Amino acid sequence: MNLHEYQAKQILNSFGVEIQRGIVATTPEEAVAAAKKLTEDTGTGWHVLKAQVHAGGRGKGGGVKLAKSLDDVERIAGEIIGMDLVTPQTSAEGKRVHQILVTEDVYYPGDSEPEEYYMSVLLNRATGRNMVMYSTEGGMDIETVAEETPHLIFHEEIDPATGLLPFQARKIAFNLGLSGMAFKQMTKFVTALVSAYEKSDSALFEINPVLKTSDDKIIAVDAKVTLDANALYRHKDYIEMRDKREENPVEVEAGEVGLNYVDLDGNVGCMVNGAGLAMATMDLIKQAGGEPANFLDVGGTADAERVEAAFKLILKDPNVKAILVNIFGGIVRCDRVAQGIVDAYKNMGNIEVPIIVRLQGTNADIAKELIDGSGLDVQSAIEFQEAADKVQAVLA
Ligand code: GDP
Ligand code: MN
Repeated sequence: MNLHEYQAKQILNSFGVEIQRGIVATTPEEAVAAAKKLTEDTGTGWHVLKAQVHAGGRGKGGGVKLAKSLDDVERIAGEIIGMDLVTPQTSAEGKRVHQILVTEDVYYPGDSEPEEYYMSVLLNRATGRNMVMYSTEGGMDIETVAEETPHLIFHEEIDPATGLLPFQARKIAFNLGLSGMAFKQMTKFVTALVSAYEKSDSALFEINPVLKTSDDKIIAVDAKVTLDANALYRHKDYIEMRDKREENPVEVEAGEVGLNYVDLDGNVGCMVNGAGLAMATMDLIKQAGGEPANFLDVGGTADAERVEAAFKLILKDPNVKAILVNIFGGIVRCDRVAQGIVDAYKNMGNIEVPIIVRLQGTNADIAKELIDGSGLDVQSAIEFQEAADKVQAVLA
């Protein structure tokens, strides 16, 4: 589950990571009040207004702006709130900004040497261990750094038995070129960061930039946190941080009816039981010359109700030219699924997209008879290749 920057910073702060302080606002009036409060609390003269959307690169799209007066705050807040922010990470339509974070300005006016670093904590899937990834090249797109100057990206792997060791924190500070007070602050920062990552059951922390001020403070200026959705039951307070407005509406709806659905760009919708078979089915669709329009795992109980809900989701996508149903009847019997498909089809009235159904496993032959005898525009297949050929035929 992805979070907004302000929520990510709340979590970091709760574990003792130094952050650029801020207050959320949804109107220009609230923004001005927030700015006044921040000046009282932090002594900041200037403020930064930051669009809160689930996408990076906001600065490039005009979603992060410096305000040098309260008039600036009011005017800029009015510009950013309600805008459709387009960044390198959004679609061309952009993302509607519902709220902004008003922050203290941590880049002091006249500070000739603010240093920006990149730091993330994430799982290294190759070794099965968490690691800290960091670079002296902060503030810019890390993908570009990885491409052009890969030697400036460092990794430090964390042994799960010991956690991040003090010498590792020192090595990180050293590799970032720090000394003196800044060195000490950085070892504290990275230690707190790793501990926050572990304790919050996160899947990704990305802090870009981490700022070193001229007076040697180390501060998280930006924060991207992805929580592990499977661990949310341990963090009731984090569940409330979910902002469904930022998510794909069809995926939200799927989640509400308990279906595993991921929206994709292709033209063949698919409905499958089991994630592995769903992946194989997407390969099959590609082989047949199509592109999958979605990933959909209906799970173990493919009854009429679930099948109908799944059809409805798939048919919301106007690009869908065919639907491939691929169900393996292990615990669930194929004839029951076939009956579910026939019932769902009848309930839904006119489905104009051709449907190819492959049912394999227990009672597959009875299922095929059921489909073939239903008089509906549904083609049945038992073998994988047969299903692929039929998809190819309807796309042609
Ligand atoms: P992103 O563009 O979505 O990654 O948003 P960031 O939070 O990283 O902000 C973008 C850029 O705004 C940063 O790289 C900084 O250069 C700048 N910025 C952020 N906070 C401040 C601040 O307090 N003062 C000034 N002057 N610039 C800031
Ligand atoms: Mn950033």
